[in-house]
Amino acid sequence: MDVKQRIEELKALLKKYNQAYFESDSPLISDVAYDALLKELVDLETAYPEYITQDSPTQRVGGSLSAAFQKVPHRSPMLSLSNAFNAEDLKAFAERVEKITPNVTYVVEPKVDGLAASIRYEKGELKLGLTRGDGTTGEDVTHNIKTIQGLPFKIPHQSFLEVRGEVYLSKERFKAINLKRQDQEEPLFKNPRNAAAGTMRQLDSTLSLERGLEINIYSVSNDLFSSMTHLETLQFLRECGLPAQPYATHHKTIESAIKAVDEIEENRHQYPFEIDGAVIKVNERSLYDELGTTSKSPRYATAYKFKAEEVETEILDVIFSVGRTGQITPVAVLAPVMVAGSLVSKATLHNEAYVMDKDIHIHDQALIKKAGDIIPEVIRVLKDKRPLNAIKVTYPTHCPSCQSTLSQVMGEADWYCLNPLCSAQQKEKLEHFVSRQAMNIETFGEKVVDAFFDLGWLKSIPDIYRLHHHQEAMKHLEGWGEKSVETLLTNIESSKARPFEFLLFGLGIKHVGLTTSKMLAKHFKNLDALMRAPFETLLDIHDVGERVAQSIVDYFNHPENQKGIEDLRHFGLRFDTTFKAAKAHEKITNLTFVLTGTLPSLSRDQAKDLIESYGGKISGSVSKKTDVVLAGEEAGSKLTKAQELQIKIIDEATLLSWIEESNE
Ligand code: AMP
Ligand code: ZN
Repeated sequence: MDVKQRIEELKALLKKYNQAYFESDSPLISDVAYDALLKELVDLETAYPEYITQDSPTQRVGGSLSAAFQKVPHRSPMLSLSNAFNAEDLKAFAERVEKITPNVTYVVEPKVDGLAASIRYEKGELKLGLTRGDGTTGEDVTHNIKTIQGLPFKIPHQSFLEVRGEVYLSKERFKAINLKRQDQEEPLFKNPRNAAAGTMRQLDSTLSLERGLEINIYSVSNDLFSSMTHLETLQFLRECGLPAQPYATHHKTIESAIKAVDEIEENRHQYPFEIDGAVIKVNERSLYDELGTTSKSPRYATAYKFKAEEVETEILDVIFSVGRTGQITPVAVLAPVMVAGSLVSKATLHNEAYVMDKDIHIHDQALIKKAGDIIPEVIRVLKDKRPLNAIKVTYPTHCPSCQSTLSQVMGEADWYCLNPLCSAQQKEKLEHFVSRQAMNIETFGEKVVDAFFDLGWLKSIPDIYRLHHHQEAMKHLEGWGEKSVETLLTNIESSKARPFEFLLFGLGIKHVGLTTSKMLAKHFKNLDALMRAPFETLLDIHDVGERVAQSIVDYFNHPENQKGIEDLRHFGLRFDTTFKAAKAHEKITNLTFVLTGTLPSLSRDQAKDLIESYGGKISGSVSKKTDVVLAGEEAGSKLTKAQELQIKIIDEATLLSWIEESNE
């Protein structure tokens, strides 16, 4: 396809999806699909810069960095709103309004929990984006405002226009951002509001483009269009292509408006963004002057604030979990309660400072909320209700698992257990290695890891590939049998073929999450190159900062880790991305083989290499998933099992004849 044509097509699609997102309740495509289109456009434009046009969504990156934000006075002050907490407050608001201007109607809108921005268009072009600042003066964040998808650079309206709206991150984006941060072991954002505010403060707009800020425009500046109603201005903004508030409803009476507010509160979790209330506005803008403002807020509108979803429950215990990097996290064990739609029985207490500042005692009654609707958190304990048997939490000085003295890392608030042989850490490391995101060894969950660890079968990762030595003993463990043991061993065996990036992630190098692992695998292609890479070379890779680079270097310098890697290599795990079958044969490639007995001429390893060089897989035990069993002298139970399951059985001569065939 013609590149230029595709670029045009992509621009049109992205524009359409942006609009759909704001004008109807339902986006036409997922964020993932949107990102894929955006990436395709970026890639094409990088290859063919001559086709980049000013109106391309990629040109939203300001690029240049300002040293600090310029302060710019607002044309008219950006006020906050008076608050209402119940129906009485809302009725009182309406009474005050109707006393001055009896003939009014009301508009109700959800109150998006983000941060306010004021945006100016001159001669139809986006010229300036300001934060609220102190209400009189805002900060110039135009470079970040320009990354907001769905906010046009150009509008058909040629006269001066100033609009105001709430900049936010959708809940979906927020989750994705935190997942990535978790993956990279960066501190999580508490809620979408904080994440959006943090993003707006960035000097480099590439970050805000990546995070995906959005905006909900809720008004035009008061001194403009004063003869229109509020609803008419929203309609006008929409016609200009601006993402104006799509949820506004119109009401003749305050009673009807209150019903709408209740409905918004009932459905508060259904919105794609976080809301913390509803805004009730007089629709007739012509009356705004007459209604006037107090020093802080206008009289023509008020904000109904939802009751925070805080729930009270007892702290039954405080435990200290040891992560796979040795990090100690205090966790409150709670009497289970429902919070914002789900059952919560544990809540993070973050770190030592948090526990001390909040003066947390076991058996305290605590207020719990879900930060950003997602992470359960203890807000505070109710000291008035503290029972006599309450126990002040003392922060441990020693690892709860291995009892070694805890240390603090320079510049970090957390305590760490630095003992590399600490059982809790080892268990976490093993659990991480077998987990779905890493090596994805099915039927090998946390409980199995813990049990085998306690039996002494597993001490470190390579022991996983030595577990077949315990096959017999395993069958006699409670809850285990012939079949489950074989399944597990087969799953372990097939994990050897798992691509390099997952293996790298599975090693559990501090600060190296899946995204970073993928990047490293792509860049270095094999482990040796990565192990040899000096600190400076690592820094050159996108997304790898000093902290990550140092951690990688430290990991590979550790003799214990080097030994583990050698063992894994010996077991045949994939330490490079370029693994491809050298040759193919229809009877070997992509099929699963099991070896049993002694072969006449080939050693086990030779047979294995041969099969693998044709893209066949080797498994340790026979199951329904086995395609071929290669049997030699004194083949044992595997052969019997293969016969039972009617699996194809071959001898060495047959294998060699297949290989000869393909060499012809
Ligand atoms: P507050 O800061 O709590 O006084 O609430 C007022 C703020 O709510 C405004 O400055 C806006 O930033 C924000 N807000 C969110 N949604 C709306 C909306 N639909 N209409 C007006 N203000 C809104
Ligand atoms: Zn420890």
